[in-house]
Amino acid sequence: MNLIDTHAHLEEVNNLKDAIKRAAEIGVIAIIAVGSDYDSNVWVMNESRKYEVKGLKIYSALGLHPWGLDPSKVEETIEFIEKNVDKAVALGEVGLDYWDKEARRSEDRRELQRRIFKRILYMAKINDKPVSIHSRGAWEDCVNIVIEAGVKRAVFHWFSGPNSALKRLIDHGYYVSATPAAAYSKEHRRVILKTPLENIILETDSPVAYAGEPSEPAHIIKALNAVAEIKGLDVKTVAEETTENAKRIFRFN
Ligand SMILES: [Zn+2]
Repeated sequence: MNLIDTHAHLEEVNNLKDAIKRAAEIGVIAIIAVGSDYDSNVWVMNESRKYEVKGLKIYSALGLHPWGLDPSKVEETIEFIEKNVDKAVALGEVGLDYWDKEARRSEDRRELQRRIFKRILYMAKINDKPVSIHSRGAWEDCVNIVIEAGVKRAVFHWFSGPNSALKRLIDHGYYVSATPAAAYSKEHRRVILKTPLENIILETDSPVAYAGEPSEPAHIIKALNAVAEIKGLDVKTVAEETTENAKRIFRFN
């Protein structure tokens, strides 16, 4: 079984070397290390590949996460992404989060999130890169902005938004990624049930904790099992198809 963890914050994973080894042992053949801010983008670009092991490749995605944005660092981060975009397999993590503490309080903050999101989507469009999108509490805006930006390949990561937004993103040929939360989250399970398998890929969002347990890329198996259970399909079929989907989006070679 070949699996791809399409979204992980590897720089935050404890004992990364051992975690990667465990992932390779269960059949993970590729991980996309996503950046969130200046420092993590530098790590993703310069350090992540040092952790590759036989049979497991690590790819870089560059992004600027909507959480805790530091306005004084936005320009240098975007500049870094621009300079390295050719070496990245995707752009992300990027997006909107209207449930973010500051965003709840301030329309200016929500507007800053949208401005950054649009700039990175524009970069994705002109460089023909896929995007890994965070959309918590801002699902409709995220989907609409991606469609307006004319981005061809987009993954709505850990999508748990309303059916109307889900339908629009599927109609545009976009994807959602399933996390281990698909085992228990009512909203995420509804999304996976309603999304055709050809629009689903897998991820862990490591080291996010699920049901109290910090995750690592080997926990992709939990996302896989949950999708198979929700869809009533065998695990092998889901593994094969989601891996093919990921290859199609990210164009690994
Ligand atoms: Zn993430």
